[in-house]
Amino acid sequence: MIIFVVIVVIALLLAGGGLAFQRSRSRGLPRSPSQPPLSSKPSASPTEPSRAEQSPAARPTAATPTAEASTTEALPTEPSTVDTALEPDATEVPEPAAGRLTRLRARLARSENALGKGLLALLSKDKLDDDTWQDVEDLLLTADVGVAPAAELVERLKTRAMVEGTRTLDDARRLLREGLLELVDPGLDRALMTSRVGGPAVILVVGVNGTGKTTTCGKIARLLVADGKSVVLGAADTFRAAAADQLETWGSRVGAQTVRGPEEGDPASVAFDAVKKGIELGVDTVLIDTAGRLHTKSGLMDELGKVKRVVEKHGPVDEVLLVLDATTGQNGLIQARVFAEVVAITGVVLTKLDGTAKGGIVVAVQRELGVPVKLIGLGEGPDDLAPFEADAFVDALLG
Ligand code: GDP
Repeated sequence: MIIFVVIVVIALLLAGGGLAFQRSRSRGLPRSPSQPPLSSKPSASPTEPSRAEQSPAARPTAATPTAEASTTEALPTEPSTVDTALEPDATEVPEPAAGRLTRLRARLARSENALGKGLLALLSKDKLDDDTWQDVEDLLLTADVGVAPAAELVERLKTRAMVEGTRTLDDARRLLREGLLELVDPGLDRALMTSRVGGPAVILVVGVNGTGKTTTCGKIARLLVADGKSVVLGAADTFRAAAADQLETWGSRVGAQTVRGPEEGDPASVAFDAVKKGIELGVDTVLIDTAGRLHTKSGLMDELGKVKRVVEKHGPVDEVLLVLDATTGQNGLIQARVFAEVVAITGVVLTKLDGTAKGGIVVAVQRELGVPVKLIGLGEGPDDLAPFEADAFVDALLG
């Protein structure tokens, strides 16, 4: 009897252990705590069919290694890129691009209230004397508008206030709105080149590590997918260990393949392979995340220059987006200057505008580089990146 009971207990223990093992195997990869939950929606549903959808061969397939002979011939070092598999039922439907800035406006207004409210309070004073104008200029400088643009705006406001008067808060708001809008320059072309006849449009994303570069690549991929575009991501930041994993996670959530290489491998090889994969799949856009080590200018120049040159073996690079952290103020402008000397920047992405009262950097960086701010980051959520719209931005500034 005792032997029988012992056998039954052992059998139960074995069965329990087996189940626990099964469960731990089926749990899969852990998700980062900061990652929002995956949507239960079955697949992304773009509004219009993308090139990748038109061709069955272009659809994402299971993982296959892509180091190929042609790639090694074209490059100085041998890459060993890996495509990530996509699970169609794990993809999300990102929010459409239209109206994002309006949705996120409160975040900007929250951080910018100091500027908008402060300026309005000063301008609607009964008497606009020299001290008040000095206070207006100081407020603009605190918000990182830049010395020359701040002085220009004050001069313009002074003249108009004298001619038209600012008796009410509405008068002050109207003058200020027009003045700020002129500084932000609504006439700039902020469209992103996201597709091209005869091959994918290629977007290089550059910037110093920590500015939000990889996150921004992921968010741009979501914007493009929301717009009905198909995307391949290139994880060419091979120097930061987690960057490729991070990018891959972003991509897989919206059904975009990520091409990556070995850690500390040649970034140019990964970039080359990513564009090659994009051509093979017939996607609309290839987005390449690059390494942002500002160790020395010549190092950066060599690295980015090589990535660009190697990618151009396939065709031209359509956009070079510089990611800047808005909270870094003058430091961000110094970074902008260095990068602009190394590559021809076509647009700026200002991140972390949700956590700063330094929104004036939009004006300063456009002046500095002579290129428009095209996108702004307003939070850590997956869809907290908005196409920049001058009107909505200024309205948000004024609260
Ligand atoms: P990278 O080193 O430049 O690639 O930077 P990451 O993409 O890893 O981002 C660095 C940190 O900035 C992460 O914690 C991001 O969530 C955060 N981040 C990126 N964009 C924004 C933004 O627009 N707002 C806020 N609040 N955080 C952001």
